Amino acid sequence: MGQQTDTIVLGAGMVGVSIACHLALRGRRVSLIDRRAPGRETSFGNAGLIQREAVEPHPFPRDFGNIWRVLPNKSVDIRYRAGAMLSEASPLWQYWRYSAPESFARIVPEYASLIAHCTREHEALFQPAGAEHLIRRDGWLQVFRTADAFEAFLDKARDFDTRFGVKHARVDREQLRAMEPGLGEGVCGAIHWTNTWSVTDPGGLVQAYADYFVSLGGTIVQAEATDITNDGAERQRWRVHTEQGMHSAAELVLATGPWSPEWLGRLGYDLPMFVMRGYHMHYDAANGVTLNYALMDSEKGYLLTPKKAGVRLTTGAELNTIDAPPRLGQLEAAEREARDFFALGARREATPWKGARPCLADMKPVIGPAHAHDGLWFAFGHGHQGFTLGPATGRLIGQMMDGEAPMVDMQPFRSDRF
Ligand SMILES: Cc1cc2nc3c(=O)[nH]c(=O)nc-3n(C[C@H](O)[C@H](O)[C@H](O)COP(=O)(O)OP(=O)(O)OC[C@H]3O[C@@H](n4cnc5c(N)ncnc54)[C@H](O)[C@@H]3O)c2cc1C
Repeated sequence: MGQQTDTIVLGAGMVGVSIACHLALRGRRVSLIDRRAPGRETSFGNAGLIQREAVEPHPFPRDFGNIWRVLPNKSVDIRYRAGAMLSEASPLWQYWRYSAPESFARIVPEYASLIAHCTREHEALFQPAGAEHLIRRDGWLQVFRTADAFEAFLDKARDFDTRFGVKHARVDREQLRAMEPGLGEGVCGAIHWTNTWSVTDPGGLVQAYADYFVSLGGTIVQAEATDITNDGAERQRWRVHTEQGMHSAAELVLATGPWSPEWLGRLGYDLPMFVMRGYHMHYDAANGVTLNYALMDSEKGYLLTPKKAGVRLTTGAELNTIDAPPRLGQLEAAEREARDFFALGARREATPWKGARPCLADMKPVIGPAHAHDGLWFAFGHGHQGFTLGPATGRLIGQMMDGEAPMVDMQPFRSDRF
C-alpha cells in the first residue's frame, strides 16, 4: 500500500521546495520527493543572485558579429557541442525564432512580470525560515572594460528603470576601484544594480526553505522516482513510483528542472526544452584582498561572487546535452580572463561543479496546470533565473491550485502555448 498525501511535489530544487512551502502554508498535506537532499543540483551551484534586474531573458545571438564571434567555439560566454546542436535541433531552431527582435520584444514584459516579484517573494520565505543571514541586499556590479559597451548598457539600464522599476547607479572607474580594490587595471566602470540581492550559500538557502517546509508539517522523501502513472481503478490519483515504494496524491507538481523533458516525453507532452550547462569553481582571493560584491565581467561573460565556500566563478552557457561528459575549456578560458580581471588565488576544489539550466525555446518557464491531464501541474524551465523565480513560482502555483486569481497574468506561461 503506497503512502497518500494531498499533493506530491517531484523535485526539491529552489522551484520545488518553494512550491512545497506555499502548499504547506495553505494547509495541504504535501510530500516533496527528490533523489538527493534538497537543493543539491542546479539550485546548488548557481551564482546565487536574486535578479530583480533580469527583466530580459537571454536570446539566441542573431546578429552576424555575435555569430562569427561564437562560431569558432572559443568564446568565454557561449560554447556548444556540434553533436548536441544536432540532437537538440528542433528546440534550438524554435529558440532562434523566438529570439527574433519582434517576438523577443513581446516576451520581455511577460518575463518581467514574474521577475518583479522575486525579492519580495524570497523575503516571504527567508524571514520565517530564519535564513536572513544568507541574504545580501547590496546589489551586484556589472563591470565594463570599454567605454562604448558601458554607455550602451547604461541606456538599457535607464530603460529598465522606466519600464520595469529596476534600480541602478553609475559607478565610474575610481569609485569602482575603491569599492572593489581587487579589480585589475583594465576596467572602465560598472552598473551597480541596487535592488537585486544575492545569497552567500545558494544550496544552504534551499535547505533552509526545506527545513521551514518540514516545520509546517511537510514530508521529505529522498528517493529516485522511476515512474509516474495515473491509471488504474482510482483514476486521477497520481502515483509516483520510487525504488522505495509508491506515493500517491490527488495532485502532482512536476518541478524536476533540467530533467523535466524525460518526464514530459513519458507523459505525452512535446515541449521545446533544452539545457544550457554551466560550471563553477571556488578560489582563494590573492594577497589578502576580499571580493566585496558579486561582479560580472560583462564583455567576457562570467561572474565572480563571494560565497561561504570562497570566490565562486560561474560560467556562461554551454549548449550540450545534460549527461554529456564535462568539457572544461570554457571554465579554463573564464579563469584566464578572471585572473587578469581580479586578484584570484588558488583553486579550492579538484573538480569543477557542473549543472544545467532548464530552458524553453521562448525563454519563459512553464507554470500552471498541464493541459492534457487533470491534477497534474508543471513548474519548470526557469532557465537562467530559476533561483530568482522559485518563491514567486511557489505562490503562483498555490494560487492557481486553490482557484484564486494569480498575482500575475499566467497566459504567457501556459503549457499549451507552443
Ligand atoms: C552556472 C549557473 C549559474 C546560475 N546563476 C543563477 C543566478 O545567479 N540566479 C538565478 O536565479 N539562477 C541562476 N541559474 C539558474 C538556476 O540555477 C536554475 O534555473 C534553477 O536552479 C532551477 O531550479 P529547479 O528547482 O527548477 O531545478 P533543480 O535545482 O535542478 O531541481 C530539480 C530537482 O529534481 C530532482 N529530480 C530530477 N529527476 C528526479 C527523479 N527521477 N527522481 C527524484 N528527483 C529527481 C533533482 O534531483 C533536482 O534536485 C544558474 C545556473 C547555472 C548552471
